[in-house]
Amino acid sequence: PGLELRDPGLLKQDAFLASGWTASRSGQRFDVVNPADGTLLAQVASLTAAQVEQAIADAAEAQRVWQEQTAKQRAGHLQRWFREIMAHVNDIALILTAEQGKPMPEARGEVAYAASFIEWFAEEGKRAYGDIIPAPQSDKRIAVLKQPVGVCAAITPWNFPAAMITRKVAPALAAGCSILVKPAEQTPLTALALAVLAERAGIPRGVLQIVTGDAREIGAVLTASDTVRKLSFTGSTEVGRLLSEQCAPTIKRLSLELGGNAPFIVFDDADIEAAIEGAVTSKYRNSGQTCVCANRFLVQDGIYEAFVERLAERSAELRVGPGLDAATEQGPLIDMAALQNVQSLIHDAVEKGARVIVGGRPHPLGHTFFEPTVLCDVDTSMRLAREEIFGPVAPVFRFSTEDEAVALANDTEYGLAAYLYTRDISRVWRVSEALEYGMVGVNTGLISNEVAPFGGVKQSGLGREGSRYGLDEYLELKYLCMQV
Ligand code: ADP
Repeated sequence: PGLELRDPGLLKQDAFLASGWTASRSGQRFDVVNPADGTLLAQVASLTAAQVEQAIADAAEAQRVWQEQTAKQRAGHLQRWFREIMAHVNDIALILTAEQGKPMPEARGEVAYAASFIEWFAEEGKRAYGDIIPAPQSDKRIAVLKQPVGVCAAITPWNFPAAMITRKVAPALAAGCSILVKPAEQTPLTALALAVLAERAGIPRGVLQIVTGDAREIGAVLTASDTVRKLSFTGSTEVGRLLSEQCAPTIKRLSLELGGNAPFIVFDDADIEAAIEGAVTSKYRNSGQTCVCANRFLVQDGIYEAFVERLAERSAELRVGPGLDAATEQGPLIDMAALQNVQSLIHDAVEKGARVIVGGRPHPLGHTFFEPTVLCDVDTSMRLAREEIFGPVAPVFRFSTEDEAVALANDTEYGLAAYLYTRDISRVWRVSEALEYGMVGVNTGLISNEVAPFGGVKQSGLGREGSRYGLDEYLELKYLCMQV
């Protein structure tokens, strides 16, 4: 559909199962559209519940064989998959941008970021060391083994159609688990392209399956299954809560990466140009549709006006357009519902006294394009102080003291990412330690990489992804007590 792929074989519309590329037994398909112009990109198989049940059984069979391979053999498969992806970065980025909307440089960046998890966990899988513990009795010996959890399921969102998949699949596979992935209905094509390359890399059938279709129905089958031992979910807190309830009867292991409400704190002593750069990166990446995007700018009295003015200037300069255009710096929002949510948050804030400094409206390009927006005179009575904006809107709050900033920052049920800008090293430590967040960016607006533990506290989630800690999420401990 107008996509100039070097390798057209990457574009798939069927589900990827143990039996190969498979249509739905019901014949049903769902539409995937380009958010930049509403055109139809593909019609993807909507699997039946029975097909998903079968996929789970196949995953169990494949896992038994997969866990018998050595970690080094599994690493070999992952390394080949990594190289396949890196050899097709541009094609995958084209597919990703077509279905998701982000500008091509961001899409290429995401594909490389996604691949980095595969490379990382290929290595980490070899280091799933156990332990020998000095026993409390002289005739006992105690050993601790790490073993794969078993069959895993992943449910992933549309905002990072590649990275949110590899961040779960790579550690699962490295640990010796098999995994079924239910990608977001808006962005299944990237998931399927990654599966094409997994197949070419020789990853055995059934170890990785992409189960496309109705979220609620597939989610119900995956969570109810006794065979599925773990669910890893990235998405909204609301759906995370629901899935966690659905997993309770079978006591599944859970990893949840949920919503955020990131504070971006700028103190009077900050390097203001650096803070503005960080603010633009953190706020407008992916049109504001990331769970670590700055949601609330908290700026100290002394530089409040200057910060608002500079941020507004920089925001107005951003070139909005289709992600496939080379000049674009900000793409469309994912769909009309997202646009309406952003509009209603702005409306609520303005009604309660906020001022729009720049933007504030749907972009003249139409569809789901929205103007980069800066609001000042915002306060905590407004919905955007509590809710995840998930759009290109920067509300700037004012504070006077450090204590006030910390209290404001922590005044939310979320606890994913926080940012602070200051040149005072004591304050860096004090504030970082006081923030109830899983991740803190200090004088930077960009914190995600494969070597660090990504994750949140409070209602932002459970568990960590990436880093050496990310592997533990897919391993069980087994303790051996030996009489000698
Ligand atoms: P977002 O706001 O990012 O779309 P969601 O939490 O709605 O976040 O979606 C994240 C993922 O969860 C997507 O793959 C979506 O299809 C899936 N999902 C949404 N609702 C359910 C549900 N009731 N059961 C299972 N999966 C769901």
